Amino acid sequence: MRVATLGSGSRGNSVFVECGQTRFLVDAGFSGSEIARRLELLGVLPDSIQAIVVTHEHRDHTAGIGIAARRWNWPLYLTPATERACAPLLRGSETVLHYEGEVPFDLGDVRVHPSSTCHDAADPVALTILDPDSGLKVGVATDLGRATTPVRNALAGCHFVVLESNHDEIMLRESPYPWSVKQRIGGSRGHLSNRLAADLAVDLLHPSLGGFLLAHLSHECNAPDAAVSAARSRLSRKGYRGVVDVALQDSPSPLYDVAALVDVVRNGGPQLRLFG
Ligand SMILES: [Zn+2]
Ligand SMILES: [Zn+2]
Repeated sequence: MRVATLGSGSRGNSVFVECGQTRFLVDAGFSGSEIARRLELLGVLPDSIQAIVVTHEHRDHTAGIGIAARRWNWPLYLTPATERACAPLLRGSETVLHYEGEVPFDLGDVRVHPSSTCHDAADPVALTILDPDSGLKVGVATDLGRATTPVRNALAGCHFVVLESNHDEIMLRESPYPWSVKQRIGGSRGHLSNRLAADLAVDLLHPSLGGFLLAHLSHECNAPDAAVSAARSRLSRKGYRGVVDVALQDSPSPLYDVAALVDVVRNGGPQLRLFG
């Protein structure tokens, strides 16, 4: 399995997943031309993508879903409530395939497990993606107000996790945002802080966990170094030697080969750092 973010943050999110012949995006919060440009940077042709799985309707995850579905005939996987909330983006000519929270479904060669999250959207989910052949499992978990028990259970055993690390709690507190916005971001239906992301990352540790890609960083209330050091300091105390990187807003991440990352941690190799 290979995974990359096309970009991540409040100005757009999309995750590319490849497993054998199966290629799809989780969310598409960029314009059609920007999706094509970023896929090209990863060496991926849009015509080789088979679908978009949409986690929730917020525009930073859906801005491009309608145009991409119409331009490249990509089916959209949506829950019914998310489809209703995305109505302004859709014209009726798109192929929509419904899924339900907590009900796994097959997409090409992989099994996708959606688990409901605590976030201020109609029917938001985090996803795990399982390759039944290799047993490799990838998690995509952003826009988490709090990591609920179902989300923790779903992420358990993942070999690579795209994990929200949205804000530094002190930077948020001292930011010029109005009180109501601070409450929304830091609240139980908002976004996960660096501290809570590190807590969750430690809980998810197991000997074959190859990497964390910290995502959905706030531009105003976070910094890549702050997010990485919050997670890495906690994880290294537990003996973790895998990747801890950050997904940036304006450029794709490296394309992570999950099996190779797992090999490194299993064989006790030196820390493989692909970012920066
Ligand atoms: Zn978001
Ligand atoms: Zn959201």
